[in-house]
Amino acid sequence: QTAARRKLVVGNWKMHGSLALCREAVPALATAGNAQVEIILCPPAPFLGEVARLAAGTALASGGQDVAELASGARTGEWSAGMLAELGCRYALVGHSERRQHHYENDALIAGKARACASAGITPIVCIGESLHERESGETRQVLCNQLDWLLTTPHWRNAIIAYEPLWAIGSNRPATPELAQETHAFIRAYLASCDPAAAQQLPLLYGGSVNAANAAGILAMPDIDGVLVGGASLQIQAMQAISATA
Ligand code: PGA
Repeated sequence: QTAARRKLVVGNWKMHGSLALCREAVPALATAGNAQVEIILCPPAPFLGEVARLAAGTALASGGQDVAELASGARTGEWSAGMLAELGCRYALVGHSERRQHHYENDALIAGKARACASAGITPIVCIGESLHERESGETRQVLCNQLDWLLTTPHWRNAIIAYEPLWAIGSNRPATPELAQETHAFIRAYLASCDPAAAQQLPLLYGGSVNAANAAGILAMPDIDGVLVGGASLQIQAMQAISATA
């Protein structure tokens, strides 16, 4: 069913790392991908130019951790998808739960960011996920549908990547079990398929939340899990190499 989809390993450094780590990580990860696995590094914005420069001509891809919903404008502190494209980035995270929480981003804005990415040839990695309270009160599916409905307002969703990141699993050392992640991914794919079965079949669905070198293989073995979005462990080069090797 899913054999044709390539596995993706995305490293989200969040607000960590340094130029020195960029210079160490890029050459080490540039050779860790292969025909089955693509590695995407998302460092903090000030390091993107250096990462893109070092990764140019290699199989390592780079991405922004965020992007504005406008092509240009009076938006101090923000950057556009076109600027990412100019650096050679091919991806951008959009709607990460930390952006939703600390920067009050809502689903409408996040859909706008996905649209802006599409206009600039950047593939958005759209993050969705429920809180612990929502899961415990049986609202997970409704929450995910609400988040997806906004994305589905843009026809470009077919070219997006979706990352399922349950909030309770992020940075908690409490990942979802492979079975629970698979069940949720299958639900997400079925929901997308109700709009466009062919597109849903092709769309990469990533799992994120406390993925590390020890648990990645079990998660990546699941049929509807096409890759992982790695936060904390992505700062360890060996962990990223090990995760990519199991993918
Ligand atoms: P984590 O973060 O791997 O540290 O849990 C994942 C994320 O927030 O993307």
